[in-house]
Amino acid sequence: MCGEPTAALVGESLILSGWTARRRDHGGLVFVDLRDRSGVTQLVINPEHSPEAAELAHGIRNEFVLRAEGELVARSPETVNPNMPTGEVELKVDSLELVSRSTALPFQLDEENVDETLRLRYRWLDLRRDKLQRNIRLRAQMVGIIRRTMEEAGFLDIQTPILFKPTPEGARDFVVPSRLQPGRFYALPQSPQILKQLTMVAGFDRYYQIAICFRDEDLRADRVQEITQLDVEMSFPDQELLFELMEQMYARIWRECLGIAIETPFVRLTYEEADRRFGSDKPDTRFALELEDATEATRGSEFGVFAGAEAVRFLRVPKAFSRGELAKLEELAKEWGAKGLAYLVFDGGEVRSPIAKFLSEAELAAFAGKDGETLLFAADVQEATSRVLGALRLHLGREVDLIRDDDFTFLWVTDFPMFRREEESGRWAAEHHPFTRPTKEWEGRFHTEPKEALAHAYDLIVNGNELGGGSFRIHEPELQAKVFELLGMTEAEQRSKFGFLLDALAMGAPPMGGIALGIDRMTMVLAGEPNLRDVIAFPKNQAGVDPMSGAPSDVTDEHLVELGLARLEEPAR
Ligand code: ASP
Repeated sequence: MCGEPTAALVGESLILSGWTARRRDHGGLVFVDLRDRSGVTQLVINPEHSPEAAELAHGIRNEFVLRAEGELVARSPETVNPNMPTGEVELKVDSLELVSRSTALPFQLDEENVDETLRLRYRWLDLRRDKLQRNIRLRAQMVGIIRRTMEEAGFLDIQTPILFKPTPEGARDFVVPSRLQPGRFYALPQSPQILKQLTMVAGFDRYYQIAICFRDEDLRADRVQEITQLDVEMSFPDQELLFELMEQMYARIWRECLGIAIETPFVRLTYEEADRRFGSDKPDTRFALELEDATEATRGSEFGVFAGAEAVRFLRVPKAFSRGELAKLEELAKEWGAKGLAYLVFDGGEVRSPIAKFLSEAELAAFAGKDGETLLFAADVQEATSRVLGALRLHLGREVDLIRDDDFTFLWVTDFPMFRREEESGRWAAEHHPFTRPTKEWEGRFHTEPKEALAHAYDLIVNGNELGGGSFRIHEPELQAKVFELLGMTEAEQRSKFGFLLDALAMGAPPMGGIALGIDRMTMVLAGEPNLRDVIAFPKNQAGVDPMSGAPSDVTDEHLVELGLARLEEPAR
């Protein structure tokens, strides 16, 4: 391989095949950097030594594929390249074969800031670059470790179908028309949730799968429509065992892929605590800057905004902000839904703030601001103060440089709310998915106080990124039906959508629980790669289009007829 020749091999005759990374013509002598997945070796082609090879070498362009035979020689000391693993040697070429040519390149492999659409259009070239080679290899290495960990722990890889029925994970379904059953559709699974539960009912006891899940979502920077996840389920679940297994798996991935020891067991926070301290259900705990509560202290405040708000909370930032900086922060806070941003700046023995005059000595004393600090307030309903201060906290973590970039802080968030109210319909929706069981305390009464009810559900977070989550499931058909009912499903709907699940649960279902962890997101964190698409070999762009193949593409009218489909109108072109 091109990355292998070292001083120890000097004198050997070698054959190297690969791509032309660079060619330099030094009037007579031609140098070629030959690259394959393992690295680069320099070829030297001397017209006096091999005239035919030299003749050929003049016509070589970047990315031509070559096969070179020759003797590995040591470079003279002044030409040794200490930045190259093979920098002490070069191949003195006896014969050279041009295996295949390349048309002019749309971009050079070492070019920076190439437009992403162009990169995706020529993905096969893009993937030749070092960074993408590294990301894709890292991903494969990680998946290898995941498989080994799961198999060693006795989990069985079971494949589940891609053409299936809707599985509720809260996104829109992709549907596929059936030709054999005209007018009917398969849905692509948003996750194998129901099927993995059925493997438990079927007695397999421990299941895992590297599963592709399809979610027809509007795409943001950190979302794709086809996500890959490690999907896990176990019967007679033991939360400690499951958490420990996942922790060991991550420790192994970080150790083997990055040589980094991560601390286990991971910290655990309940949802309530995460929200209270960090204003988030996926807190980045690489830095402190916790939210503080001033609701009690401001009950009788002369500042009406404080006195009248359901919650008054604040961040204590170790910096005295200028007026201009505060104006910018206020603008951000408004984007996150705040009406304004009250502040107190403790600077040079004074308090700078338009609201200070409304605050009593007692209030100021309760805030206990120190010189060089700014207190930033949110006064609103509890949820809104979390949203605004949680987002502000993350922003300030970066802005005031509180985050240590080389840190990895993993944590579990547990005891999520079971339901949330859908804004438009006013209906209850499952916070996780409708198969999640209530915690022990809520089993008998979740339906009487759905707003307060807690689920036996958990998420795994690293550095403020949600890696995934899971829950313990409902294995009692009556309990499952009761949850469906609360979600507003009639009995007929329950039967048509989930009849098979209810039937299965009624035929000897074990208690079960599991988790799913996103492989794409995991690779991003592992590779320190901010672009989700760059940890996926063949991703689509943010409009769900693959610029390389042109997918999604049109189908012929004949094909539509076969499927029993008609167009509403001609698609726009
Ligand atoms: N099916 C869930 C998901 O895809 C994970 C789980 O509950 O195991 O998010």
